[in-house]
Amino acid sequence: MNDPKVALFDMDGTLCDYVGSLKRDLEKLRAPDEAIVDPFKVNGPQYQHIWNRMDLIKADEKWWANLPKLQLGYDVLKMTNKLGYYNEVLTQGPKKNPAALAGKLTWLINNIEEDIDYTMTRNKGRHYGRVLVDDFPDYALTWLTHRKNGLVIMPSNEYNAGFKHPQVILYNGRNKEEVRDGLVDALNR
Ligand SMILES: [Mg+2]
Repeated sequence: MNDPKVALFDMDGTLCDYVGSLKRDLEKLRAPDEAIVDPFKVNGPQYQHIWNRMDLIKADEKWWANLPKLQLGYDVLKMTNKLGYYNEVLTQGPKKNPAALAGKLTWLINNIEEDIDYTMTRNKGRHYGRVLVDDFPDYALTWLTHRKNGLVIMPSNEYNAGFKHPQVILYNGRNKEEVRDGLVDALNR
């Protein structure tokens, strides 16, 4: 194929439930009298113990391999399949955590039926696609920097609520038509 119609899929927060699993497992490590903290709002030395706990959780290859599927990402995957996109996984590889990469590969083998190509990268912005499906605004913006016609489908969650960009469609499970229309436009461009 000279011009494959590539749809790139993020894993954590798109195809797999990273946030829910992290919160669930942090809760198991919380002392009875300890306040509940948001693991995505833990800046400052007073939260070092939370970072240590997250490192402990994420050091387990099986944790990554057993993340539950996230329906929002699968909805979009079903649509791109039906429309004839060439699907690829584009996931951020942690800098110093080989267990995460091994676990992510096991996850793909166990959870994606198609023989899907995948890239584990430190920079999503360098990778070609017509469409990027990703829940994280920073990665969406990095990727869009060099893609004036690119389309991002963003599975919604509590951390990207209200995000707005002319090339981004926030998908919450109820606006399938809008997502499908966007995917059709990107395919025919
Ligand atoms: Mg993500």
